[in-house]
Amino acid sequence: MIRFDNVSKRYPGGKDALHAVNLHMPAGSMAFLTGHSGAGKSTLLKLIALLERTTRGQLFLDGENLSRAPKRRIPMVRRKIGMIFQNHRLLFDRTVFDNVALPLVIAGHRHQEIGRRVRAALDKVGLLGHERAFPITLSGGEQQRVGIARAVVNKPKLLLADEPTGNLDPDLSRDIMHLFEQFNQVGVTVLIASHDLDLISRMPYERLHLEHGQLLNSGEVAMA
Ligand code: ADP
Ligand code: ADP
Repeated sequence: MIRFDNVSKRYPGGKDALHAVNLHMPAGSMAFLTGHSGAGKSTLLKLIALLERTTRGQLFLDGENLSRAPKRRIPMVRRKIGMIFQNHRLLFDRTVFDNVALPLVIAGHRHQEIGRRVRAALDKVGLLGHERAFPITLSGGEQQRVGIARAVVNKPKLLLADEPTGNLDPDLSRDIMHLFEQFNQVGVTVLIASHDLDLISRMPYERLHLEHGQLLNSGEVAMA
């Protein structure tokens, strides 16, 4: 699903944020991306989602060489990916329904189809019945679940999460990780950047460890 061949990323004026990274995640696998703040975790995720472009090397997603993908391919590539952020980036002046529906509205789905899919996504994260609520009335854990529902509503093949439990207490963090496992169990490839070693040491997934932009292990992720 994801392959990095000697990928480097240098921001203008900086040193390499990622240096000669090799990595392979087969479809259906799940892994954690670890490393200190500034190690390059967000950058690696952004390259996959085409939020940033590679400086050197080749990056393949689902067989497509993203390093060569023209700008007009970006929307199609993003449709394969669900992204989850630490601060979940919900729209606070919209209801839960509207937040989760957003990717479907952008993709131009029909009204009826949108309602059906939004309810299915909310059901998966345990928030069915909260469609009319505004995010501000929900707890932090529930807000993150809305963010996850929005990320999966398009049925992406790949979920990328950047510190998804960064603001949550340990119990809620475990619940969120369990949700990711459930998506992985139905075939979604999952890559989660996290520095919560306490949490991820209890889970049976491989760790890709970054230090100063370099991957310290082989980068070859096996199926769990
Ligand atoms: P992490 O997610 O592991 O904290 P990042 O990928 O955010 O690491 O950052 C890796 C390195 O790249 C850091 O040195 C950071 O300051 C730098 N960096 C990240 N984004 C930018 C940017 N837009 N412009 C310049 N430097 C950046
Ligand atoms: P978040 O990941 O929640 O969006 P961050 O604080 O990690 O917030 O990063 C905010 C933005 O600043 C990101 O787009 C990141 O790429 C960028 N950034 C990080 N480090 C630098 C840097 N040294 N110079 C310029 N931009 C940076």
